[in-house]
Amino acid sequence: MKYVSTRGLTDPVSFNEAVAIGLAPDGGLFLPESLPDISPRLPAWKNLSYAELCTEFLSIFATDIPADVLEQIVHRSYGTFTHPDIAPLRKIDPKLYVLELFHGPTLAFKDFALQFLGNLYGWQCAQKNRSINVLGATSGDTGAAAIHGLLGKPLTAIFILYPEGRVSPLQERQMTCTGAANVHAIAIDGSFDDAQRVLKDIFANKSFATQHNLSAVNSINIARVLAQSVYYLYAWLRLPEADREKVEFVVPTGNFGNVFAGWLLQQMGVPILGFKVATNRNDILHRLFTTAEYRSGEVHPSLAPSMDIQVASNFERFLYYALDESPTRVNAVLAQIKATGSYRFDLLNKSVFSSSAASDEDIAALIKRVYERYRYIVDPHTACAFKDLNPQRVSVVLSTAHPAKFPAAIHAAIGQEPTAPALDELKSRPIVKHRLPADAEAIKAFITQRAV
Ligand SMILES: *Cc1c(COP(=O)(O)O)cnc(C)c1O
Repeated sequence: MKYVSTRGLTDPVSFNEAVAIGLAPDGGLFLPESLPDISPRLPAWKNLSYAELCTEFLSIFATDIPADVLEQIVHRSYGTFTHPDIAPLRKIDPKLYVLELFHGPTLAFKDFALQFLGNLYGWQCAQKNRSINVLGATSGDTGAAAIHGLLGKPLTAIFILYPEGRVSPLQERQMTCTGAANVHAIAIDGSFDDAQRVLKDIFANKSFATQHNLSAVNSINIARVLAQSVYYLYAWLRLPEADREKVEFVVPTGNFGNVFAGWLLQQMGVPILGFKVATNRNDILHRLFTTAEYRSGEVHPSLAPSMDIQVASNFERFLYYALDESPTRVNAVLAQIKATGSYRFDLLNKSVFSSSAASDEDIAALIKRVYERYRYIVDPHTACAFKDLNPQRVSVVLSTAHPAKFPAAIHAAIGQEPTAPALDELKSRPIVKHRLPADAEAIKAFITQRAV
């Protein structure tokens, strides 16, 4: 299987190359050159464990990784999860399920993709006998998940920049209390935007980036998308047969990565009825699906910070399919969005996508209502998904984070503080972080000292 760029100016590459490069050289995102029809295989996959199903599914795409290696990588990736089902599907009402995606090492769904990606990178480095230094900026969850994906892996180091004092105390502990020598958490004096600017400056220095084999943490690696399709498939196979073709997945959404992974699976022949894009007050995608207009706005902080995004970077992949896989049309639409800040679609399939937007008041009220109705505690991101559920459909809500990661918001809503052993344990470990100015030269000097 080869991978093509949404912008059409990159020659097709193998899976391993697409993973190693991340972003295509023409600035586009990689996608499989054709999508398989997996519907004939569904009956045989019904009783597979998560890791078995994941290996079967990914082997269709990772055709240049030996089968036994892929199996090992998958087992290692999901062996760090604490629930035997990896992604347990819980029924909380006759037509309502929650798919719990928070049993990985950092208690958020990003572990599904980043545990797998970390092990893939580790294997690729060992194969080529080459090191890799991963560099990223984070406002919280992605940095923690990326760190735990590479923790202690030979030939790798990871440098994560975050704004001092502006990530939650627990998120900071997840990044700084790992005890691993190849993890470097850098607290910069400045905002998240400053951290991103420094990162851009460092990557713009091509000779520095090449000298240290720098690689970016980002949400656009094709391996992340495909690893995320697996839990939709797993959940669908676990639903009672009568519910399967009536199912709508309800997905707390920021970058459109998670919901795109589900939609892609539908395109491969899994009969899913629809997807509901659940946003917080940063509602660019809700506006898109209700008014057909894509128009970015300002980012406002919310109770669900990992969804505080107004540029949905994975949206370009969806655009590619919506525009009949024509890179020429993708480039034209992107140019128009860049020039005017907006685009009007006349081609959105309303029967597949629906959407909702939850204000901070809604989030607090939803946490309370879900707790009172179902005796189930949801985190602020997951809470957004409970807004305006469609009673005609069977809903599977994707729970993207463990509620214990957001104790203040939960306490304010229901007067209790959920806990998780993995987080409690962190509190007894020393914080190791490096305070540096938001300055590319200072960060480069630091990287030079510690790069592998
Ligand atoms: C990253 C994140 C999201 C948003 O996921 P996207 O793939 O960007 O749509 C939602 N919830 C939590 C807890 C997250 O960490």
